[in-house]
Amino acid sequence: MADSATLATGQTSDVVVLGGGSGGYATALRAAQLGMTVTLIEKDKVGGTCLHRGCVPTKALLHAAEIAENTRSAGEYGVLASFSGIDMAAVGTYRDGIVARAYRGLEGLIRSRGITMVHGAGRLVAPRTVEVAGQHHTGRHLVCATGSYSKTLPGLAVDGQLVITSEHALALDRVPASAVILGGGVIGCEFASVWRSFGAEVTIVEALPRLIAGEDEASSKALERAFRKRRITLKVGRPFEGVESTDRGVRVTIAGGETIEAEVLLVAVGRGPVTDQLGYAEQGIRLDRGFVVTDERLRTTAPGVAAVGDIVPGVQLAHRGFAQGIFLAEDFAGLRPEPIDDEAIPRVTYTMPEVASVGLNESKARERYGEAVRTVTYDLGGNPKSNILKTQGFVKVVSIVDGPVVGIHLVGDRVSELIGEAQLIYSWEAYPSDVARMIHAHPTQNEALGEAHLALTGKPLHVHG
Ligand SMILES: Cc1cc2nc3c(=O)[nH]c(=O)nc-3n(C[C@H](O)[C@H](O)[C@H](O)COP(=O)(O)OP(=O)(O)OC[C@H]3O[C@@H](n4cnc5c(N)ncnc54)[C@H](O)[C@@H]3O)c2cc1C
Repeated sequence: MADSATLATGQTSDVVVLGGGSGGYATALRAAQLGMTVTLIEKDKVGGTCLHRGCVPTKALLHAAEIAENTRSAGEYGVLASFSGIDMAAVGTYRDGIVARAYRGLEGLIRSRGITMVHGAGRLVAPRTVEVAGQHHTGRHLVCATGSYSKTLPGLAVDGQLVITSEHALALDRVPASAVILGGGVIGCEFASVWRSFGAEVTIVEALPRLIAGEDEASSKALERAFRKRRITLKVGRPFEGVESTDRGVRVTIAGGETIEAEVLLVAVGRGPVTDQLGYAEQGIRLDRGFVVTDERLRTTAPGVAAVGDIVPGVQLAHRGFAQGIFLAEDFAGLRPEPIDDEAIPRVTYTMPEVASVGLNESKARERYGEAVRTVTYDLGGNPKSNILKTQGFVKVVSIVDGPVVGIHLVGDRVSELIGEAQLIYSWEAYPSDVARMIHAHPTQNEALGEAHLALTGKPLHVHG
């Protein structure tokens, strides 16, 4: 890896990427694979939010949480074990080990592809040119990939102690005795699930009428039911009004004047784009509420400048960034890849139970296709593997009469592992009859997908009534 200090002013490459998170490093890796010279500029660590502060460390915590739940319920399976608490230092060691291993692997990949890594904060200063510590890096193509940050609400100050974001929550060296989580989206729900499994008293405050409001209404309802059963307190449709510190933590006031006391307040109200003060607007890149406006080929309004990842409006997911990065590199190489269909991007909330989906939810499908929409919901109660796991939930398939499947929605432990098949069904525009012909191994949770499609074709197998 070359260091920025060793590069001459006026360094040029085929591709310059500003930001080494999921979107940026995927662009760099694919462009290098296609024979282009690539400069990747990163001010912190390659891997970005996903590897260091997002997907990977949170999923390690969620796995530890699953083990805690399994230990508590071991007796139900005839296994003698007792749960005596969480050693947060040991959980941290496990989590950090996973991150460190992936980080080493990623650094090695970047080295082996011959990518020039520049360490430092960059800023656009001229067409397709980024300045880092006085050095200019110009690309035939410039890719903005500066990612996102945890937002807060106007007037709600994050102090990192009592009022925290997901970054602070991940770094906590203890399990809070109690927590109020502001925001019932994916990140808020995942922390609620972890902390509850670790023994905390958790309350979620959400202004919208339901949790994970972008998902199918049935999925939100199922998650809410499961959370209530786990004694997570839900205040949905109840906007936040204020917070004050107390001797023992925080007192949160919500609409209607109700107050909730807790040790910490986790603010999980979404992620804003990192686009300020980076010279974007000055170089002709149009921004909309801070997000970078692009066309379907991810080109910004500045010639030769593209954007990927969380700064581009749409679902903020690591695998969307990977796909966009691959797309851009192939586009630069003249391979004319197909634009990405954002609706085909699978979405997973890794709570207990998990929620996963691809394509349209029922209400969006009805807006688009009206009366032609058909749905079938197959209850996991009829699926032996789910019964073995003692998980409840469903597979809901949304399809068009005499047409393809346009959405699949899953709730239940481990259903994230079914989303791959669901995505193939959606992306290949399969008709229910195409899927009904597929033989699903028994006993698996995938069988529930098969059963739902059998039901849609009028020949349900394991369905009563
Ligand atoms: C708690 C949490 C859990 C998540 N869980 C999941 C999950 O399970 N699955 C999933 O798909 N997604 C998940 N996400 C979302 C995922 O992390 C993001 O969608 C993804 O990281 C976005 O990639 P990106 O490349 O756009 O930005 P980032 O990963 O944020 O990377 C941007 C990079 O740019 C660098 N940078 C910024 N400005 C400059 C500058 N001026 N100069 C140089 N470098 C700069 C930053 O240091 C950073 O490394 C989660 C996010 C959070 C916060």
